[in-house]
Amino acid sequence: MTFPSESSFPSLIARRTRYKLLEASYLAFNLPFIYNNLMQIQHKLVQWYLENKRDLPFRINQDPYRVWISEIMAQQTQIDTLIPYYERWMNQYPTLEHLSLSEDEELYRLWEGLGYYSRVKNIKKAALIIKQDFNNVFPNIKEDIEKLPGIGDYTSSAIASICFNEKTAAIDGNVKRVMSRLYTLDENLDKKYFYTFVKSQIEEWMNSVEPTHLTQALMELGALICNKPAKCDICPLKSMCNAYVTNTVNDYPKPTKQLSKKEETIDIVLCMNNQNQFALTLDHNDKLMSGYYRLPRLDQFNQIDLTFDKSVKHIFSHKIWNINFYVANINESSSDFIWVTKKESETLPIITVHRNYLKEKFI
Ligand code: SF4
Repeated sequence: MTFPSESSFPSLIARRTRYKLLEASYLAFNLPFIYNNLMQIQHKLVQWYLENKRDLPFRINQDPYRVWISEIMAQQTQIDTLIPYYERWMNQYPTLEHLSLSEDEELYRLWEGLGYYSRVKNIKKAALIIKQDFNNVFPNIKEDIEKLPGIGDYTSSAIASICFNEKTAAIDGNVKRVMSRLYTLDENLDKKYFYTFVKSQIEEWMNSVEPTHLTQALMELGALICNKPAKCDICPLKSMCNAYVTNTVNDYPKPTKQLSKKEETIDIVLCMNNQNQFALTLDHNDKLMSGYYRLPRLDQFNQIDLTFDKSVKHIFSHKIWNINFYVANINESSSDFIWVTKKESETLPIITVHRNYLKEKFI
């Protein structure tokens, strides 16, 4: 289905009119039966969710603190990978108050391996704001939640709908994929109109089912069934799904433009002294991962005898590091670095690619 252009179909159009246009589009495609069935989707979906949802540690209650941490961890991380991190975090910081009293280094160490380190810093900043402005009680409306550092439209809607039943749709990649297939939406997923349509459709559904269930049901369907490849045979919505009925599931969602990743070559030194310690630094020349220790760069030494060890490619969402690792021994300790033993390094936050290299070297 191709939408009318954004200008001829503005985002604030009345819902009733939108439905009429939607109906006309479906009739034009000779798919009225699917349109009729679409009216039942929310009920089917929630029923399926209640019967099939996974037992996940952040679903044991609707505590917004627990949901918040899980949502931030889940950005770019699979649920199975996230669970041990989540459990360690909740053991260490079971409440907002515990979090607000945390030591930064300890917090960063717990987050190590999840990447996107600015997220953990924003979590700490948000916890301090909640302590100061909300007396350690998590705000309970999207408008207030969205003002916290590191929380955008998606996360604030997820927390507000899951924990406080607010009628606000949380639209992430999973939800976009499901909706683009249900409606065979030809629109680019990043277009404002796609977002406006999907959001208003889900919020319309929220008038007849609990927002907390619908939000989680859409996420769960996207994660477990309407995935890549889609498991349409066991999908509760298959009789209502435009892509399934028209045998075009693999055509949706429409591919988005991939940005090319910038590549960078970095020379890194594992520098040992004669007390079996190695050098770490907080100094770096990029904006990534501040607060995390790293092995020094080669350009941090004036002169040093090196041996090349290995090259490693580390891929971020937006760039690629080609890292050349060297080893060196120096006899004097330099005050430019901190010098640690392997054991001491285990309690410090260190960027993952360097941690992995250290593990290899010290096995
Ligand atoms: S029928 Fe297939 S494509 Fe349609 S919603 Fe279900 S899993 Fe997704």
